[in-house]
Amino acid sequence: MDYNLSKEKFNQLLSELKQEYQIYAPVRKENKGTYSANDLITYDLIDNLDDIELNKKSKYSAKEIVFPIRETLFHFMDGEQKMASEDEEKYIIFLRPCDRNAFKRLDKIFLENGPEEDIYYKRLREKVKFFVIECTEGFDSCFCVSMDSNEVERDDYSAFLRFREDGISFKLNDQELKNNYFTDVNDFEKINFEAQFIQENKIKVNLPDKDKITNEVFENELWTEYSERCIACGRCNTSCPTCSCFTVKDVLYDENKKSGERFRRWAGCHIDGFTEMAGGHSFREEHGDRMRYKTMHKIYDFAERFDFDMCVGCGRCDDVCPEYISFSKCINKLSQIVEEGA
Ligand code: SF4
Ligand code: SF4
Repeated sequence: MDYNLSKEKFNQLLSELKQEYQIYAPVRKENKGTYSANDLITYDLIDNLDDIELNKKSKYSAKEIVFPIRETLFHFMDGEQKMASEDEEKYIIFLRPCDRNAFKRLDKIFLENGPEEDIYYKRLREKVKFFVIECTEGFDSCFCVSMDSNEVERDDYSAFLRFREDGISFKLNDQELKNNYFTDVNDFEKINFEAQFIQENKIKVNLPDKDKITNEVFENELWTEYSERCIACGRCNTSCPTCSCFTVKDVLYDENKKSGERFRRWAGCHIDGFTEMAGGHSFREEHGDRMRYKTMHKIYDFAERFDFDMCVGCGRCDDVCPEYISFSKCINKLSQIVEEGA
């Protein structure tokens, strides 16, 4: 059963949910964009439906809620360690299907990529509920349909929302929320609606035939183009909802040099120092090599290990690149090269 609610009633529910959950959604921050006169669309806490920016794509995704930019792992003192304490927060995240599918990629990376689960990711991830926003039109740079990430399954969300002029139509798929918050659902207007998903983006990407990718493809001159254009700023990494690399550092506290903490923070494969090893050797000095590494990871290696590609086609990397490097165009060029036999 699905329901219709007025905006006022839904906002009332949100304010009740706020007692237990931190509610995140894409919002507009005026004059906080790249230039002072530009607005920044990003994830932040909301109070009500009017806070949600539905008409523009967010520059950043919601990944930092479960994978913080900087996260303390443990504290140490005099040879003893103590795992960083866990906060009590629970989260509701409003997001589009591609971004929900990006969390599936993060789950694979942090929870199913070897014998051990990432306990830090897991303890945050377990406290997240997803409210999926119906998305039927997308944005100019999206290519989610090509990446097969334009749709979600019923099990992927706690609620699925269609925004109407005068209210919300929603599917509720979460017993905990039903029991604790949506207790008067029987008084809501009952409807049946079929979730709609975008079926065609303006941008289409042809994925390369993985069986035809040879070593020659890795050495193709395609990648040298990016050595000339990419400035290794790493914006594409930070805005990507599936980039999940991090580096680990120790800091010692001033008062007692035997005490300190170990933390991790985001790292990006495009940024200088990402592959630096003891002795100063670096594997991918050329920026084009970094582009090749990222591309192959997003649309080749990851799928060799798991069942789907890592890239969800959100197009954020295209939106943020100061050098107008287009990842979707790169994939299409790569596919052509692969088809032509490198
Ligand atoms: S690689 Fe680009 S298009 Fe793909 S998920 Fe990351 S930001 Fe989105
Ligand atoms: S955003 Fe563009 S210039 Fe910056 S690292 Fe990525 S591809 Fe290179």
